[in-house]
Amino acid sequence: MLVAEGVCSLHITEITKLVRGVKGNPRTVFDRLFDITEYTGALVLPEGIRDWAASKFGDLSGVEKQQIIKITNRVTLEGTLFNALRALRPLPGGDSARLDRSIEEHQSGCAFCKPDEKTPADTFGRLVGINAITASNVAKYDRWHSLIIPDEHHPLRFDAEQVADYFSLAGKWFGVVLEQPAAGQAQKQPRYPFLMWNCLWPAGSSVVHGHLQVTVTTGMHYPKVERLRRDAAVYRQQHGENYFEDLYLGHRVAGLALKEGDARIFASLTPIKEKETWVVLPGKSGLEHLAELGLWVGRVLTSLRENGTSSFNVAVYIPPPDSAPEDWAGFPLIARVVDRGDAAGRTADFGGMELYAASVVSTDPFQVAHHLRIQVGDGS
Ligand SMILES: [Zn+2]
Repeated sequence: MLVAEGVCSLHITEITKLVRGVKGNPRTVFDRLFDITEYTGALVLPEGIRDWAASKFGDLSGVEKQQIIKITNRVTLEGTLFNALRALRPLPGGDSARLDRSIEEHQSGCAFCKPDEKTPADTFGRLVGINAITASNVAKYDRWHSLIIPDEHHPLRFDAEQVADYFSLAGKWFGVVLEQPAAGQAQKQPRYPFLMWNCLWPAGSSVVHGHLQVTVTTGMHYPKVERLRRDAAVYRQQHGENYFEDLYLGHRVAGLALKEGDARIFASLTPIKEKETWVVLPGKSGLEHLAELGLWVGRVLTSLRENGTSSFNVAVYIPPPDSAPEDWAGFPLIARVVDRGDAAGRTADFGGMELYAASVVSTDPFQVAHHLRIQVGDGS
């Protein structure tokens, strides 16, 4: 392994130097996956704001000459600009005690605390897990769109085993929906499952009580999932390799990955936003493996939570379990987990750059990987 105990002292600004020492096939894979550009952003601090800048950012030389790294995934054209200094910007923030109070206040009259009475059911009824239940979504954005509602009101109180149960219940729901007949000749068969979890306001959740969302779409998979399938298919045609295995390898040679059981977990080099972490189950694509995926996602989430995450999104890419017109060979179960900032704060983390150009990220993937290694892995 290239990097072991010293990983926490590494910084994304050293990525080029780090990879320069990698030879052979791993280097070939890394170079065909990632384009890396380094810049220095320079500015002049007038006397009147030097004291203020020093109090906010510390060392002024790091402000006057800022290191910026731009990493682009050449296969998918996902890309990120890293500048650690931005993490130190003065932002209005909240505190966790205030967040807990706010979450408790929402418990009064919370419909999700009484799902049997106060949430709609699917036409086929409800499915029940160990500590969660399904409900139909009252305002659907797809023909099949429902919720996994944990018994626990507080959206940040869960452990990995509970997350595995939520994912398992989602798998059962998908199984039932996939058996449902198409409604009329004009309707296509439900075929493409999708699982997501938006936790608290910054992540786009309007309901405080924790809940996961499950959809099954028709015709073709959602555009971003289909985009990834096509990119991976082109990659296989061009290089004869599985894109997802190479993606893991590329992160492993950089020292950003860990392998736990059958799971491959890595802090992304091109995160869509802060701390994005991928969990991949190579060779496993069926719904029966969702609980296993959920267990690892739960461990990643608890690690993030221990390091301050209070709002997050999880998205799970699931190939169609039944036959589909497209080729899904080699596409595994994938979960993407991303921190969405301070749930008690008032700053949106997505701006014009993220919507239309590239993601701007403050958190260093090496720090994320370091915490994952200690809290999810065996610490080695
Ligand atoms: Zn509730």
